[in-house]
Amino acid sequence: MRGKKFYEKTPAERLALLIEEGRIDENDAGKLSGENGLDRETANFMIENVIGTFSLPIGVARGFIINGEKIDVPMVIEEPSVVAAASNAAKLTALNGGFSAEADAPIMIGQLQLINVPYPANAVSAIRRHRKQLLDQIRSIDPVLASVGGGPVDLKIKFFKNSPIGSFLVVYLYLNVADAMGANAVNSALEKIAPELESLTGGEARLRILSNLAVRRLARARCVLKAESLRTAEYDGESVAARILDAAALAEVDPYRAVTHNKGILNGIDAVLLATGNDWRAVEAGAHGFAAKHGKIFPLSRWEKDAGRNLIGTIELPMAVGTVGGATRVHPAAQAALKMMNVDSAKKLAGILAAVGLAQNLAALRALGTVGIQKGHLSLHARQVAIAAGAVGNQIELVAEKMRADRVISTDRAKEILSAL
Ligand code: NAD
Repeated sequence: MRGKKFYEKTPAERLALLIEEGRIDENDAGKLSGENGLDRETANFMIENVIGTFSLPIGVARGFIINGEKIDVPMVIEEPSVVAAASNAAKLTALNGGFSAEADAPIMIGQLQLINVPYPANAVSAIRRHRKQLLDQIRSIDPVLASVGGGPVDLKIKFFKNSPIGSFLVVYLYLNVADAMGANAVNSALEKIAPELESLTGGEARLRILSNLAVRRLARARCVLKAESLRTAEYDGESVAARILDAAALAEVDPYRAVTHNKGILNGIDAVLLATGNDWRAVEAGAHGFAAKHGKIFPLSRWEKDAGRNLIGTIELPMAVGTVGGATRVHPAAQAALKMMNVDSAKKLAGILAAVGLAQNLAALRALGTVGIQKGHLSLHARQVAIAAGAVGNQIELVAEKMRADRVISTDRAKEILSAL
């Protein structure tokens, strides 16, 4: 008899397999299963007014090939189908050589606003004259960052003539934050140089804060799929490729679709951000801002056909993520999740995230362009509805199965089936 597939195994069997394959060790398994996950004492150091912890499921999308490396991707998410879709797209792409992925140097941008500057033109010249001195000052405040290759790379200045409060200057700091997400590093640097900038310009410092529009820290991924590999039970590969292009075209021209297209991409990215303890709001904000950079929302991924019979998918978006700092080193499961993916740098993590986003998008467009997503989604959704209606143990699958057979999935129907049981 053939062995059970990963999705057919129990959670304990899945963990055992990941240990057997050397993806995680026993200790990590405890952190990921929740047994030795985030405890209340640690949580109490993470945020304010802690009363406990809140759990979400963690699943693994297996079989990704990214830059030639096989990677199992941990995903924390409450929505059914996301992990299954990512796994399907990972396998499909792996048959075609997998994803190539890369990320820019980890340069974050911070803003320092100077108001009531008496002579803006003189102020700009003064900052330019002291540029080196200011950069040296910033470098000296974070020797740890400097020791790992980080540090300031540039200062730029912009004069805003008209705003609701009149004119002001903004100084932009470009800081290489190495393996950190970088918000604290940037904010600390800006607060440090604010007095110096006030005395150079005669103005008053107001905002000193990181920008989440991390356009100097983009991540990219690409996949090339042979049309025939895309075939489904109902459609041949050529028509699936054409249907994916039909679906992608709507996102190119219509913001109503582009926003949803991007949400699907972020389904995968957010789940990995959560699993690795990263700030998913920061990446979300950056992604949406980047998608709207031309004044209209565009899709973060593009699909096209080459001269042969290949479908080519590409994605590019800001990826401000860290493997140190924030919650990444505090949450026990986050460390185990990074280890599972063999991530040793923020750049590698950024590339993986871009590939996962593109995989999620491929799975969504393939389903949407053919049978629709409800078929797969509703069967998983049925179990959640059954639980919400009060089903426990083996009642869950019985109620879900009956709802699927009747093609009516609702809490009322689940309650009726439950009382009949
Ligand atoms: P951090 O300050 O905890 O860690 C970064 C520091 O770690 C560096 O300054 C450096 O001194 C040290 N470090 C050690 N090894 C390093 C390495 N290999 N690479 C880089 N730095 C190394 O974290 P952070 O990444 O600066 O800030 C992230 C946190 O800030 C997140 O929790 C985020 O939610 C929060 N935050 C976000 C925003 C925003 O997005 N607008 C604003 C404020 C705070």
